[in-house]
This record gives sequence, structure tokens and C-alpha cells, in this order.
Amino acid sequence: MESLSKALKRRFNSIPDPILWKTELLFRGVRFTNELEEAVKEGAAANYWPYRKPQPEGPPKFVDVPYLFELESGAVARVRVEDRSGFEVRRSNGGYRLLDGDRELCGVGFVQAHKWQSFRTSDGATQFEAGVEQLGDMLVVNVAPGCEYFLSKKSCTFCGYGRFGSRSKALGQVQGRVGLEERTLQRLYEVLRCAAESGEARHVYLTGGSMLSPELEVERYLPVVETARRAVGDKLRVTCGSGAVDRAGTARYRDAGADSCCYNLETWAPEVFPVVCPGKSSSVGRDRWIEGLLGAVDVFGRGNVASAFVAGVELLPPAPRMTPEAMMASILEGAGFLMDHGIMPLYSPLWPVEGTGYAKDDGLSPELYIDLEEKICRMRQERDFPVPSWLICPGCSYMLLEVDFDRAYGLAAVH
Ligand code: SF4
Repeated sequence: MESLSKALKRRFNSIPDPILWKTELLFRGVRFTNELEEAVKEGAAANYWPYRKPQPEGPPKFVDVPYLFELESGAVARVRVEDRSGFEVRRSNGGYRLLDGDRELCGVGFVQAHKWQSFRTSDGATQFEAGVEQLGDMLVVNVAPGCEYFLSKKSCTFCGYGRFGSRSKALGQVQGRVGLEERTLQRLYEVLRCAAESGEARHVYLTGGSMLSPELEVERYLPVVETARRAVGDKLRVTCGSGAVDRAGTARYRDAGADSCCYNLETWAPEVFPVVCPGKSSSVGRDRWIEGLLGAVDVFGRGNVASAFVAGVELLPPAPRMTPEAMMASILEGAGFLMDHGIMPLYSPLWPVEGTGYAKDDGLSPELYIDLEEKICRMRQERDFPVPSWLICPGCSYMLLEVDFDRAYGLAAVH
């Protein structure tokens, strides 16, 4: 089968190859070779999803593979093993090379396991039990993953990660209760302090499931913001990724120690938002969400507020099946509005996950995603508004292309 990147090159021949290779890795993945297994033994951070390696007899064997590629271009990309992919990793001259069939593309490495992974809190908890993951150079904090929208059957249509389950239980999260356990916050403090001192992280992103109103959301996040700031001092940037709250709520985040915020609207189209994000729509509402974003710019300043979107939900039910052209027009309208008001939008393609109403092949096509990312990068260029590095940077942008486009088109990130 022809590789995706070759087909993309024919259509987008001015887009630099490394962006197309990363797109292939994100959408099609990489074929399993023993080199992937060896890289983990040599110190690469292991993926949460091991590879199921077929055996000549008996059930498949679970094999650890790396989590993140480091491409020669400086980009990172998630490692997704897919044996139908045309790409594979082979050893060459003491390092690893990425190949498309017989053609060598570039050198690759893997993000190494961080040095502080064996750290345990004073009560013996691991970083995961404290709700902290290191993804590239970003520390993602999620101490309350359960989302109240799931309980009222109003979860976002693409979301498979906000259910109450073993993870929320282990963190002591209780449905309907705003406050978090003291023990959870203490563990969070100890892990973040250790991670910040290791010097291996650059930014902290606070996220979690939603509460049923912006007021409750502020009460939920404030102690998390305050704990994170106390733990990392002035070493790391702290971003609050709660649901949208009003200007006064954002000011409280700032006063508790946040530097920036990211309130994810998920889709710009007014007719799509209520059906794709019924919880956000009924608990906050689109107008109030946008007002919250604008108020946050008053608090944190231009370029210190962001909103993430899932591109592709517009094309499928329960959305009213927009055409690709109408989707693109809506997304570009939203991007222009947000950028002109100092807010940075980010777009990930719809990646259908199990447990949602979308089938595996319902995701946004790579062609549409590249087209969209290229157009939005041109809009950032026109406004001299690069993606700020507190939000995503080359070291943590393993699922998105914004940073790669900015670098390829000469937009320098603001630190
Ligand atoms: S707000 Fe939506 S995307 Fe976020 S956890 Fe809840 S259901 Fe998932």
C-alpha cells in the first residue's frame, strides 16, 4: 500500500516532508519491529498500551513499545503500532532510522523515561496515584477525572475518558462532591515538587472532569491551582484547563497562582455545540463560554488564553452533517474571532475512541486535517500570533501539528 505521506505530498507539495511524516505516524502509525521493543529496554518511556505481538502458537504476547517518537526535525509524535502502516523503525549506524518501505526518511529517537519516575510520596503513592503524568515536557495533572456530565448522560459525544471508574475512585473522587481529599492534594504537592526539581518539565496543565456549573468548577479547581503553584514555585508555568468560568472566577485562578487558562469549547458552530457537548451547553452555554474566554483575556492578557477544538465532529450525527466546506468555513470563522480577541485555538482531529457513538473509521481524514492546520497557520502568520509555548511546545506536541507548522513557516513561539 502506498504510504499516506506520499499521497499527501502529491496534494500538498509545498508542505515540508517532516510534517507529512508526522501526520503518517499520527494517522497510520508504525509497523512493529523488534527495534521498538529494544528501545524501551534501552530507556525509552514505555507506552501505556503495549503491543500485542502475535505468537506462532498460543495467545499474543504483550510487549512494551515506546510512548513518543523524537523526529530529527525536533518534533515529537506518539507511537501507535499498526502493522498495516508503511512506516517502520530500523537500526542504522548506532541509532534508529524511520523508513517508508525501503526508503530512509530520517533519524528517530524516543523520549526517555523521566528520571523521577521511581519517586514515591511520603505515603508510598506513585505519580499516577497522585494524578500526574509527564507527557514530553508537560506535567498533566488530573486529580478528579470523573465528569459529572456522564452521570446526567450529557457527556461530550467524542469523550471516552471522563467516566467515573477505578481511576477516579483511587484518587478519592466522589460523585457530586466538589472538594478533593486532603491526601490527594498532599500527594499532588509532593509529586509536582519532585518533578519541578528534576528540571525535566517545563509546564503544568491542570485538567479533569467537569462540575455542573462554573461556580462549582472554580471551587473544584482553586485548591488544585494553589497546590500546583506552591509545589513548583516559579520554576514552571501553570495552566488551568477547567471548563469556562466567568471573569471573576478566572481572576481567582490567577490569584491562586495560575499563569494562563484553556477553556475548551470543542466546536465553534452554534448548531453543533448543543448536540456534541450537551453538558457544556446546558450547564454553561455557548455565549457564556465565549464570554468566559474573553473575560480570561482581560485577566491573563493576549496569548495567555486558549481553547481546544475537536475538528470533524461537525461532519457526523448527532451534528447536522455539515459538508467539509461548511465545516472548514465555520472553523475558520471561529479561529479568526478567537485570535482577534487574543485567544489561541488548537485543533485536534476527531479520533474515535471506544465507548462513544463514533465508529473507528469516522475520524477526520488526514487530508482535511492538514488542509485545516495549514489554513489556520496562515491566519496565525497574518496576525503574528504563534502558538504560545506555555500551551504546547515542540517537546509536548505529540498529537497536534500547530507547533510544527509554526516552525516550518517561521513563526517563533513566545515563551
Ligand atoms: S467535559 Fe466533555 S470532554 Fe471533558 S470530561 Fe466531560 S464529557 Fe469529557
